[in-house]
Amino acid sequence: MNRCLFELPHPAVPVSGEDALYPVRRIFCVARNYAGHAREMGGNPEREEPFYFTKPADALVPGGGDIPYPPGTSNLHHEVELVVAVAAPLFRATPEQAATAIFGYAVGLDLTRRDLQFAARDKGRPWDLGKSFENSAPLSPLVRNPAPLTTGAVTLTVNGQLRQQGDLSDMIWGVPEVLAHLSQYYHLGPGDLVFTGTPEGVGPVVPGDRLAGQVDGVGDLIVSILAGD
Ligand code: MN
Repeated sequence: MNRCLFELPHPAVPVSGEDALYPVRRIFCVARNYAGHAREMGGNPEREEPFYFTKPADALVPGGGDIPYPPGTSNLHHEVELVVAVAAPLFRATPEQAATAIFGYAVGLDLTRRDLQFAARDKGRPWDLGKSFENSAPLSPLVRNPAPLTTGAVTLTVNGQLRQQGDLSDMIWGVPEVLAHLSQYYHLGPGDLVFTGTPEGVGPVVPGDRLAGQVDGVGDLIVSILAGD
């Protein structure tokens, strides 16, 4: 048996009220899952099939906190989102089956280098530089809750000013539907997180800003943007 040349930290997020951590294998993100945000991105808010991008697990910032302004952008955007953690294997599942495989939820920020995302989008290129980068996925502690969440306010303030406001009931694709759809393409299982999309009101942040995201019944996430290097 060959040994690994070096050890790597394994990304994991705290579970609220417990000593245990939820280890993270993959992060899937749903694009445009609220009509208002689809419109503000220049898209069509009709119920077309969901589409996805991913972030590496080490993009997580468990618990939030201070993060440096990332390199290569001058238009870093906030997107507050409900994040669902998978509890059990799911493959080619129905929404009813997917609804039985939920570990719980967290509040996440899908931080986005919007200038790079749009430049890629406009050329038909992948979104990786815009979406998948270090510290791009701050996450509150996970709250155990096996129920499909269908309502609850989703808000984000920046320096105390309300920037994003929506409700889980406005999601075009609900949690069981998103998991079921993703499971047509992946063998989902424990360790998989899904960012379920953001309501309208996304916008830029700059060093010195303090972001506070909240999903009713799930929790709070506080992030401060520091100067970059
Ligand atoms: Mn997003």
